[in-house]
Amino acid sequence: MSGFDVRKVRADFPILHQEVRGRPLVYLDSAATAQKPQAVIDAIVRFYQHDNANVHRGVHVLSERATEAYEGARETVRRFINARDAKEIIFVRGTTEAINLVAQTYGRKHIGAGDEILITHIEHHANIVPWRMLCEQTGAVLKVIPVDERGELQLDAVDALMTERTRILAVTHVSNALGTVTPVKELTRRAHAKGIPVLVDGAQAVTHFPVDVQDLGCDFYAFSGHKMFGPTGIGVLYGRMERLEPLPPYQGGGDMILSVTMEKVTYNRVPHRFEAGTPDLAGAVGLAAAIRYLEALGMDAVAAHDQQLLAYATKALESVPGLRIIGQAREKSAVLSFLLDDIHPHDVGTILDREGICIRTGHHCAQPVMQYFKVPATSRASLALYNTTEDVDALVRGLHKVLEVFK
Ligand code: PMP
Repeated sequence: MSGFDVRKVRADFPILHQEVRGRPLVYLDSAATAQKPQAVIDAIVRFYQHDNANVHRGVHVLSERATEAYEGARETVRRFINARDAKEIIFVRGTTEAINLVAQTYGRKHIGAGDEILITHIEHHANIVPWRMLCEQTGAVLKVIPVDERGELQLDAVDALMTERTRILAVTHVSNALGTVTPVKELTRRAHAKGIPVLVDGAQAVTHFPVDVQDLGCDFYAFSGHKMFGPTGIGVLYGRMERLEPLPPYQGGGDMILSVTMEKVTYNRVPHRFEAGTPDLAGAVGLAAAIRYLEALGMDAVAAHDQQLLAYATKALESVPGLRIIGQAREKSAVLSFLLDDIHPHDVGTILDREGICIRTGHHCAQPVMQYFKVPATSRASLALYNTTEDVDALVRGLHKVLEVFK
């Protein structure tokens, strides 16, 4: 882990240095949203203090600066995921909007009654509900790649599920509920062999390891700024140009048109065709700052830190009596879903909160995963680049307290 110093990293995140409930804060909920380094906060403040104006149409200096910052952020995102062209980067509100955009543009154009949409059993609701809605709108059918008891996809079921009616495969790169890393490159290879385009939900991936969309070969890749240390309200849909170019617009309004008469509208080129209205300019600036922050640390170093911490935390949690980890995929990201005896996860979370420890409890917007494991909810600790072994030790101490309360 050359050059990666978690103490220095922690110092960059002001929110972490506070007491809550009279205890030092231990933040283990980064899969829900990650904290922001000072560099991101500064970039947003600087934008509003110096450069703010609306983009693209202005002739004045501030509009020029704002446009440069916004389009510069697009180029920064392109570099981060190694897209071929910055025009393949569409700014959206987040992963949820990115997937809805594909469902309502690609989906409405190419998917009809009796066609099949293939997803997996470990998707976040954001990669289920837009497709279910499309099924209801078009009469298409939702097909599901099953999961096994480790939380891995059952790959031997995949080929039979890819039929001549399959119009898209929509798959998560990392499960937010289990941490499973899916073999997206292999799935894309198999889908493309049958002419099926692939959308990847990368919300939990881009924050943990390097992502190269050209290497993966996928057609669409969606992620959210706020989970990768950037602001809320901004996210990205990457789409290969040959996929985006023929698509109809998503929403109508300013900026997405070339000309408007009362009789006829001609639409703007990609990516502007998909960005109706004033975009989240400061959000894009903040996201670009988050990317520069990650690039300075190095995504390989971030990945190594996460993996070391995951191994440490897995071992530490397994030492807690009555604790069962849900999701033990061989390739896993730094997410630990667990049950403690028969104590309700909500009680676990509430007692940990009294110790200043933030975890998430519930179904994690992945109810089908909970249904598969026959549990209504789990407790989930999710780790990020600013977490330490001391954070994990605090969690373990907290869980022993929970056990004492329920003894
Ligand atoms: N997919 C996954 C795997 C997620 O973890 C999340 C957020 N929990 C989403 C999609 C949705 O992201 P957002 O709420 O930022 O749109």
